[in-house]
Amino acid sequence: RTVYLNGEYLPEAEAKVSIFDRGFVMADGVYEVTSVLQGKLLDFPGHLQRLDRSLKALGMGNPLADDEWLAVHRKMVELNQIDEGIIYLQVTRGNPGDRDFAYPPETTPQTIVLFTQAKPGLSENPQAKTGLKVVSVEDLRWARRDIKTVQLLFPSMAKMEAKHRGADDAWLVEDGFVTEGTSNNTYIVKDGKIITRELSTDILHGITRGSLLRYAAEAQMQIEERPFTIEEAQQADEAFFTSASAFVLPVVEIDGAKVGGGTPGPVATRLRELYLEESLKSAI
Ligand code: PMP
Repeated sequence: RTVYLNGEYLPEAEAKVSIFDRGFVMADGVYEVTSVLQGKLLDFPGHLQRLDRSLKALGMGNPLADDEWLAVHRKMVELNQIDEGIIYLQVTRGNPGDRDFAYPPETTPQTIVLFTQAKPGLSENPQAKTGLKVVSVEDLRWARRDIKTVQLLFPSMAKMEAKHRGADDAWLVEDGFVTEGTSNNTYIVKDGKIITRELSTDILHGITRGSLLRYAAEAQMQIEERPFTIEEAQQADEAFFTSASAFVLPVVEIDGAKVGGGTPGPVATRLRELYLEESLKSAI
């Protein structure tokens, strides 16, 4: 695999980062994951906007201009011959020389890393036909989940708990309401209406979420943005989640209770098709 590190394209074994990097010792960095279909980037302007927002929220500058980010992403697709897969990008506050809670001077070079993961068959994921099982786990993350930082320990712990409990993923719950999944935004469908939590600092502002809700509104589907409980989700007609690498995937069981008869429903199935179709139209 060829990776990108601070302006260079290198074999992955040659890409070295300091052990003092703030990304490593403080999780002081942000990331984005963009999916690639037919060799093209999906929802790319959205990912760049969110990257900029995450960097600003942490008082960091954006090391590259949008056209430079696009060129680097395209080069990575080309060098790694990605037809279907994802591109991961990370920017950290760099290497201050010593470990210190205070930020280093702004002149400290940031560390920029990109790598690809080929995922042949990403668009034909069999889980779209079978659906997934989730369990609820108390949301113990920090309170700025709208910033896409690399501190992913709690989502990893929740994912492992889900696996130990025989499920595919965890839906995180705070004050009785679902916030989101470990790495995705969550939805239910009742009487044809799509219900999903509104944007706030409690959840990541999913790029797939934003595009999907726009496509759904354009297709005259009804949308309600509000929190819902696990009990309401269990009694819903359908449940599903979205993320850049999953697109739209149905959930057919929540804490052991079958949702909508235990098979993917028509709304989630249609939304998956709609998302794939529309996002490919604007892919670059
Ligand atoms: N919520 C969380 C906590 C996530 O980690 C992700 C994916 N990184 C999402 C939602 C979905 O966001 P997107 O659609 O931009 O991938």
